[in-house]
Amino acid sequence: SPQSVHVDLGERSYDILIGQNVLESAGERIAALAPGARTVVVTDGRVARMHLDTLEASLEAAKIDSFAVIVTPGEGSKSWHGIQTVTDAIIGGRLERGDLVIALGGGVIGDLAGFAAAIARRGMRFVQMPTTLLAQVDSSVGGKTGINTEHGKNLVGSFHQPILVLADTATLETLPDREMKAGYAEMVKYGLIDDAAFFEWLEVNAPAVLAGEVEPRTEAIARSCAAKARVVADDEREGGRRALLNLGHTFGHALEVLCNYDPAKLVHGEGVAIGMVLAHRFSNHLGLCSGQDVQRVVAHLEGLGLPTDIAAIEGFNPTIDELVDAMKQDKKVERGALTFILTRGIGQSFIASDVSEGSLRSFLSTLD
Ligand code: NAD
Ligand code: ZN
Repeated sequence: SPQSVHVDLGERSYDILIGQNVLESAGERIAALAPGARTVVVTDGRVARMHLDTLEASLEAAKIDSFAVIVTPGEGSKSWHGIQTVTDAIIGGRLERGDLVIALGGGVIGDLAGFAAAIARRGMRFVQMPTTLLAQVDSSVGGKTGINTEHGKNLVGSFHQPILVLADTATLETLPDREMKAGYAEMVKYGLIDDAAFFEWLEVNAPAVLAGEVEPRTEAIARSCAAKARVVADDEREGGRRALLNLGHTFGHALEVLCNYDPAKLVHGEGVAIGMVLAHRFSNHLGLCSGQDVQRVVAHLEGLGLPTDIAAIEGFNPTIDELVDAMKQDKKVERGALTFILTRGIGQSFIASDVSEGSLRSFLSTLD
């Protein structure tokens, strides 16, 4: 039976349902939540081949009128061109404000379809049906939607919460191993932020979660969603605590930028894995976190085949200046002061908004 997590945002509250084959019940759930609504399913070509039939059959069985918009797989669709394609399809399909946009796919589709829902007809309802682990534990929850521009990633967008998240763990069976592990890194992040018990649980259960055993996998996704839901309910628009979700991301983004977002070199979750290790090492360098805790994080990620240092990225040898410059361009840098998520140990992360460039450089010079 599926697990459910509630995201408490007053009038905009919603449920996340996680379970094996929940996609097959999508039609009846939507019919109950939005009676009479028509739907557009936004997805990409790869996901469509593997999972669109299941969803369409379920919508049809519930007598829900729907059509699909299929975009090109990959980050390139989170663009002005992508948003034009989707909004034109919505308007051309004569959907009204009360109708429904469904995002079926990974984080790219969730961000794109969610943003289209936020702006088409001045705001339509939407449902997230995440099909990557990263989307199931992170991007489908919390309401951040948007696209990339030539100036950088996620620079145009909107906060727009879904009315339901349906995470079907069966869809993960077709996900490549590398994508699976990258999503797993974000799970580890929740343990490292403020839940040492969850990190310990992952140390024991990671092999079962990654191998796709239904119960531990469902449990791990539900605990991750609950962690994200708590932070989002506290601080929907990232005025404070939500920034904790950036653990590992200041370093991680810098690495992604310097690798030109080339997935052959580095995918996001791998950057986050390296970034989380660097955040722990940096904290250790500053005398905040024990070497033992650093080693525990390294051992866990390494044991699963995730990269844990910059040298693990093939053919990549950034200078300290390049790293510092890339971090300064990150949106987490405000008015010259560097903001980092640092930690006092596993599950004890905090926001440090006064990190000096000097201490960062001194830390980076200790890496070989
Ligand atoms: P993605 O959507 O590009 O999916 C990765 C690849 O996997 C794609 O080629 C896709 O076609 C394929 N795929 C998807 N589901 C599959 C399945 N079940 N089986 C086989 N293949 C499948 O990328 P992603 O890693 O899911 O998400 C990354 C995006 O998420 C980035 O754009 C990032 O900015 C965004 N993001 C957003 C938030 C947020 O809060 N909104 C948070 C984190 C990341
Ligand atoms: Zn991330």
